[in-house]
Amino acid sequence: MYIVPTPIGNLDDISQRCLAVLSEADLIACEDTRHSSRLLDHYSIKTPLTALHDHNERGKSDWIVSRLEEGTSIALISDAGTPLISDPGYHLVNKVREAGFRVSPLPGACAAITALSASGLPTDQFTFVGFLPAKSGQKKGKLQELVAETATLIFYESPHRILATLEDMRGVLGEREVVLAREITKTYETFLNGSFDELLDALNNDSNQQRGEMVLMVSGADKREVNATLAGLDTMIKSSLKYLGVKQTSSLLSDITGLRKKEIYQRALEISE
Ligand code: SAM
Repeated sequence: MYIVPTPIGNLDDISQRCLAVLSEADLIACEDTRHSSRLLDHYSIKTPLTALHDHNERGKSDWIVSRLEEGTSIALISDAGTPLISDPGYHLVNKVREAGFRVSPLPGACAAITALSASGLPTDQFTFVGFLPAKSGQKKGKLQELVAETATLIFYESPHRILATLEDMRGVLGEREVVLAREITKTYETFLNGSFDELLDALNNDSNQQRGEMVLMVSGADKREVNATLAGLDTMIKSSLKYLGVKQTSSLLSDITGLRKKEIYQRALEISE
């Protein structure tokens, strides 16, 4: 089975080898057959399509494994970019590997990596978060887990949630450098950078900036601040343990420092022992 990335906007962004694999495979598994037909028609690829999406992936994976057992070669694509990256395919790849078949990935477009490469933010370490939960409480909880992450953070976001997400991030993450990459490889490709306040102003003043597909990137937490917090952590744990148990200590100090509850719990346990 081949994992084949497809363009994220500009139809030319697909390699010769991807096109050859798509032409020569016996079957292409895609999220939406109508959507993928447009790309395949453009390149006169006649390989039959079968739908594999979030709602049928488990059942369909067994069927695909049985097709591989019959000797069928299969290419997996998604609507755009690299399959499995905030797209279906994880369960299928797992099943296919478990069944002993080779899964061969082809390199190609991915919105997160393409956006990061031009963002001006540090690229030596990054954390891909993908889509945050839609509900504000869960979203803030996820952001809270990322407060002490020093790597550049990469998110996918939809236009109708971008303002609320920037506001939630401003509240939870504080002062950061932010880059919003919109419509990459398309006519209205735009990179906006600034603080959360500056981006919120830019988007509120021009509703066009809220349109299209977007990758949001946020600089990581300041390493020195995180180190200073860690250095003070043992002292805080020891003081807290005089009055509270390990569990309450880890909840309290996680709220105060933004560090992960699990890590504080582990450290508090060692100190208490
Ligand atoms: N698998 C894809 C990839 O490799 O990037 C991502 C699929 S995910 C369902 C779709 C999201 O990717 C969009 O909502 C947007 O956040 C981001 N995205 C896709 N194409 C983009 C583009 N041309 N410009 C900016 N963001 C894009």
